[in-house]
Amino acid sequence: MDSTLLAQILEQDNQPDYRRRQIETDVFGHLISDWAQATDLPAALRTKLTECVPLSTIEAIDSGESRRGDSTKVVFRLTDGEMIESVLMRHNDGRNTICVSSQAGCPMRCAFCATGRSGFRRNLTVDEIVDQVLYFARRLNRNDQRVSNVVFMGMGEPFHNYDAVLSAARIMNAETGLGIAARRISISTCGLIPGIERLTNEPLQLNLAISLHAPNDKLRSQIMPVNEAYPLTDLLSAVRTYVTKTRRKVMFEYLLLDGVNDSLEQAEQLAELLFDSPLFHVNLIRFHRTGDFRPSPKSRRDDFLLRLKSKGISATHRVSFGEDIKAACGMLATNAKSATKKMERKPNR
Ligand code: SF4
Repeated sequence: MDSTLLAQILEQDNQPDYRRRQIETDVFGHLISDWAQATDLPAALRTKLTECVPLSTIEAIDSGESRRGDSTKVVFRLTDGEMIESVLMRHNDGRNTICVSSQAGCPMRCAFCATGRSGFRRNLTVDEIVDQVLYFARRLNRNDQRVSNVVFMGMGEPFHNYDAVLSAARIMNAETGLGIAARRISISTCGLIPGIERLTNEPLQLNLAISLHAPNDKLRSQIMPVNEAYPLTDLLSAVRTYVTKTRRKVMFEYLLLDGVNDSLEQAEQLAELLFDSPLFHVNLIRFHRTGDFRPSPKSRRDDFLLRLKSKGISATHRVSFGEDIKAACGMLATNAKSATKKMERKPNR
């Protein structure tokens, strides 16, 4: 919903203060898809909102369903023509997780990531972030289902757009917003320490995930340029402060890249880095081929996991979603050109 235009209309109209809360209940609670459905509002206001305030700041222009039917990727066009992607992942236990984008493109240039290679275009606004979740919430609501979890693991580095991401998370969490528990909202960073420090002091207790992907500075700097500015010792020190203060678990994401970071020696280095906190957990992620990197074979992924566990590290293989629709980790890479072609094939819905 375009909250800036909404505020203008409510002010111009001299609407009472409670009107905003009523509207938030209609939009986030009742998940209306048309202002005409907001029957608790005066008819004249409904008409004005229909004319002046879009219920979404993003437009779904294409979508793909995985063969297994457990994930849906949607391409959204923003009002200035930029494109982003979001993914719905349906878990066997009934949870519905939305992977949202926080930026159009990404400035962090991780070597294995399709988004990073596409370059940075701009930060998303609060409304553009919330509207990704709202879109799926409306869609799920048609089948009496709801969004249970949100992960900031789509396009972009969330802490590079910290204020908008946190404001969006507050709206997702608010009782008058989407009502998603804070412990079910996760922010994944490639390691921007100022963002971790700010999150440590936030009253809203969101989950923190760190995209680690390498067990030493030399390799990490090669595949994740952010490591030059925020090397591992400093990064882990900031994470330990976060854990001490919040007592919350931290997930370390580790993509297994064939012949790059998947040897048993590297598993031992990783265990050395992370052995000292029972609140650390390593998620090993199967890589989906993009660019020059290849996925580690299954036997090596299994050996890597066993070696971590033998060193006392809490670790699991992360379930992978949507490889066939390029919706999996590191594969989101919409650019305006390809999405416009798709839009010509499939008009708005
Ligand atoms: S992995 Fe994340 S932080 Fe790195 S380039 Fe891709 S989107 Fe950006």
